[in-house]
Amino acid sequence: MSRWDVEVDVVIVGAGACGLVAASALAEAGLDVVVVEKMSSPSGNTSLSQGMIPAAGTRFQRDLGIDDRPETLFEDIMKKNGGTSDKQVTRAVSEHAWRAVEWLVEGCHVDLSVCTDFNYPGFSNYRMHAPPSRSGRDLLISLERHVGKQKNVSIATRAALTSIVPDADGTRIDGVQILQNNEMMLIGAKATILASNGFGGNRDMVQRYIPAMSDALYFGHAGNTGDGILMASEIGAAVGSMSGFQGHASVAVPHGILITWGTVMTGGILLNASGERFTNEIQGYSEMALEVQRLPGSVAFELFDQVSYDAASSISDFRTAVEAKAVRKFDSLEAYEAAFHLPPGSVCSTVTAYHASLQNGLDSDGRPTSGVDPFERRERRRLAPPYYGVRIGPALFHTQGGLKTNEHAQVIRRDGRVFKNLYAGGGAAEGLSGPHPKGYLSGNGLLSAVTLGYIAGLHASQ
Ligand SMILES: Cc1cc2nc3c(=O)[nH]c(=O)nc-3n(C[C@H](O)[C@H](O)[C@H](O)COP(=O)(O)OP(=O)(O)OC[C@H]3O[C@@H](n4cnc5c(N)ncnc54)[C@H](O)[C@@H]3O)c2cc1C
Repeated sequence: MSRWDVEVDVVIVGAGACGLVAASALAEAGLDVVVVEKMSSPSGNTSLSQGMIPAAGTRFQRDLGIDDRPETLFEDIMKKNGGTSDKQVTRAVSEHAWRAVEWLVEGCHVDLSVCTDFNYPGFSNYRMHAPPSRSGRDLLISLERHVGKQKNVSIATRAALTSIVPDADGTRIDGVQILQNNEMMLIGAKATILASNGFGGNRDMVQRYIPAMSDALYFGHAGNTGDGILMASEIGAAVGSMSGFQGHASVAVPHGILITWGTVMTGGILLNASGERFTNEIQGYSEMALEVQRLPGSVAFELFDQVSYDAASSISDFRTAVEAKAVRKFDSLEAYEAAFHLPPGSVCSTVTAYHASLQNGLDSDGRPTSGVDPFERRERRRLAPPYYGVRIGPALFHTQGGLKTNEHAQVIRRDGRVFKNLYAGGGAAEGLSGPHPKGYLSGNGLLSAVTLGYIAGLHASQ
């Protein structure tokens, strides 16, 4: 009699972007797949995201006349993280991203287009590919619909991974143990893919690895409690970049709605409770989370104008924030000061000084202000009424540390050997950002989820 309750070709843990992309690739190769998801339905951080997937050299970019290459994506990622991510994995992801995105559109019928409303810090080109709504919910729904049509794939919900079963040698995995509806089940599989994201929802792990963010709001999915990382570590897997994370400096307070960094990239500025600029806004939103976290009360204020408002309006979260009245409109800076209880005259003099610094050719951080910085691509220009403002706070979005993998997404053991049939992708794998939040290049989250999921699916199907 078999020791297994169920036997499949591949078991995938987690039904976010990584898990569902891997499942789609395996289905195409004709393999029998079960995806186990511990929550009552697929969701994950993927459905909370803005669905923005970076990829360089896609035909969708070429159609818009954008000349981008995988090598440029690789360089941008390495420049942002200061050369601290694994080069082989980063290169493999950069080279496969365009294939994965084209295949998602053509093979899986996911509606993605290139976002050209604004660019992100550190991007050499417009290369975010997102659903029309700019909502990760729509990305997830499309993937789930596609997977649902595959006869050889099933998704088991309320089914949580509880342990991984290695063979006697310790370099192959025979299957996994699952808890579903209070019943333990053993699933035997020729390959296992861990797509269970990181540990943002595990307070103890955050306290241990990222203490500076342990008091910050966690803005990600509750299911992401580091299970895959912990259970693979128990059987000898290596982990890396555990202190890395994606933070975000601008979540509307108290509404809890993400305000896209597009408002800053198109010319907005950030103020503290004294109505003064406190930072160089050219930094990425991830590292800025720590700066806002350190301010009194951990709050700041965004100030932008109609140009930024119009650019940000393509993002569904931003429209939600407008509807919730988190984004407020003002005819004058005096009205802005009064509404946010900032010292009278403070914002007026800050903006006057900011405009003067633009005329001098240097902003207050001493950086050139000639329109758009060639690398950072943040616009610096005079702000004009009507003005818009949001009270913002910082949040932890997701963790970037995880299981060490090779370029095929196979998990590496602490003794240097490779688990031949254990894969990890997305937030379960060590990310592309290195050990610091400033290493996070926008889109590194879904880039790793989609592309490592695709790579794992292709490799496991062989
Ligand atoms: C608000 C927000 C906005 C973001 N916007 C973007 C963006 O636009 N672009 C971008 O690149 N990144 C973005 N990110 C990050 C991005 O969402 C994630 O990096 C990405 O979705 C991770 O995908 P994943 O498949 O690895 O994990 P997830 O989508 O989180 O899926 C993991 C799944 O595994 C399940 N799971 C966990 N443990 C177990 C277990 N023991 N057994 C079974 N199932 C388990 C979870 O319940 C979850 O459903 C954003 C994040 C947030 C929070």
